[in-house]
Amino acid sequence: MPRPSTGGGAPAAGPYARALIAFGTMHGKQHQVAGSFAGILHTRMVAPVGIDTDQFGTFAGEIPRTLTPIQAARAKARLAMTAVDTPYGLASEASYGPLPGLPVPGHEEMLLFLDDTRGIEILEGERSLDVPWSPRRVTDTAEAAAFLAGVGFPAQAVIVHAAQGPAGLALVKGIADLAALAHAITSACQASPDGHAVVEADLRAQHNPTRRRLLTRLGQRLAHRLAIPCPACRCPGYGRTGTEPGLPCAACDTPTHLAAADVHSCARCPHRHRVPRPDLTADPQWCDRCNP
Ligand SMILES: [Zn+2]
Ligand SMILES: [Zn+2]
Repeated sequence: MPRPSTGGGAPAAGPYARALIAFGTMHGKQHQVAGSFAGILHTRMVAPVGIDTDQFGTFAGEIPRTLTPIQAARAKARLAMTAVDTPYGLASEASYGPLPGLPVPGHEEMLLFLDDTRGIEILEGERSLDVPWSPRRVTDTAEAAAFLAGVGFPAQAVIVHAAQGPAGLALVKGIADLAALAHAITSACQASPDGHAVVEADLRAQHNPTRRRLLTRLGQRLAHRLAIPCPACRCPGYGRTGTEPGLPCAACDTPTHLAAADVHSCARCPHRHRVPRPDLTADPQWCDRCNP
């Protein structure tokens, strides 16, 4: 049987068919998400031009972040929903730094969907160890170019700023060619009291291939989830919302902090259920009694 298409024939079905979703981004993130939303949910998506999502903070630090990541994502989605006048919104927010419980830097991305017609928020998140290189001090363009030749430049674009002085001094973002790099390094070295510039990965999505890949995965997961109705009330977006610790130690059966099950729940009604993890026991290295 042929699949119905959205272009004609059988009408697209589902809770969000033909819904207009506003993505609050200045950085092209809708390009990573719109395809799976259209394919799975038959939505339309727009990223309104002229909104300022940088007001909620920037990676480069010249505008400080005062909101939590989920608050910032909510604010960006609301900005876009107001601009487009639609009850459906999306936004994503990334955090880079040490991951909880791990001694290494990582990337945590969340993708938040708002539906004001049902009064719900659906969140999907993912942690990844696939992160760009750390900021690097350089004295001139040749040093910067030699380093960048080995780390994916210019697909991964860079920002440059003065090594000393106030945040944002001689800051240039989105550098993706050697001429712009040379200009920015020279200016930053001149501006910095110590004569050094700092080169960093530009973490914004349109300049950051690893982040775009993660956003694409999150978009697919969120679209699939929005197609799943709550078993009790049929509200869309039923899915994993947390974990339940207590996986028993393999040696002594003491409950550990490791997850024994995932918890799936509804965004609108109290319905929930637990899905046991495939592991039946935890390695004793995680046990407070065997390995205090
Ligand atoms: Zn134990
Ligand atoms: Zn429900």
